[in-house]
Amino acid sequence: MILILLGPPGAGKGTQAKKITEKYKFPQISTGDILRAAVKEGTEMGLKAKGYMDAGKLVTDEVVIEIIKDRIKEDDCSNGFILDGFPRTMAQASSLGDMLKENGMELGHVLDISVDESFLVERLTGRRTCKNCGFGYHIRFSPSSTDGVCDKCGGGLFQRDDDNEETVKNRFEVYKDQSDELKSFYSGLGKYQLIDGTTDPESVFKAVSAVIDG
Ligand code: ADP
Ligand code: AMP
Repeated sequence: MILILLGPPGAGKGTQAKKITEKYKFPQISTGDILRAAVKEGTEMGLKAKGYMDAGKLVTDEVVIEIIKDRIKEDDCSNGFILDGFPRTMAQASSLGDMLKENGMELGHVLDISVDESFLVERLTGRRTCKNCGFGYHIRFSPSSTDGVCDKCGGGLFQRDDDNEETVKNRFEVYKDQSDELKSFYSGLGKYQLIDGTTDPESVFKAVSAVIDG
């Protein structure tokens, strides 16, 4: 099944994507993770993307569309995948529709994880991620047992450069500018499902699973 996770920065898309992967085995495709890896490696794509990401702005459609085009052709995507952070613009949504058609794939559901902005600054500034396995923590809501160390693999935890209050504000504005059109588009296709993201991660996952299980 092909799933799209919509929702503002910090809504819990990555957290839910990991739970979906664990239960249903669909791979998570996070354009943000792919771009951050490219920045770290210093590739040409990473160099192009870095300035936009540091400013909390969107990387160009061309770059992210190319990422997805290549990624969904890989073998592990043949039974479905989870798009986390893509599409973010109507141009990306439209290209995704073309790509799915070309590959004989059909969109399952668009899950919009909805969380009021007042919760999100704390979620984002407290987010920590494992450098090694990518598992996500929160210093207050889901801390690791040892400060700065991943419970799953012992890797070190890091804080994202763009998870500071100022950049977060820009990221919210960008999300607000783009998201209404995407929601209407997927509602029109009959694929849109609103999920309350304000409860604890397990309760959110119950709602997510109920949609996937139909
Ligand atoms: P996104 O991928 O949408 O940007 P994340 O899944 O990375 O968001 O979650 C942002 C932060 O909020 C992380 O630190 C995560 O541990 C925490 N978090 C995720 N879901 C919840 C929840 N339902 N309640 C409280 N904190 C959450
Ligand atoms: P995320 O990890 O989803 O919070 O994304 C982090 C940053 O990566 C965003 O603020 C953008 O700069 C960039 N990014 C990720 N996905 C996209 C996308 N689909 N379109 C444009 N930029 C993106």
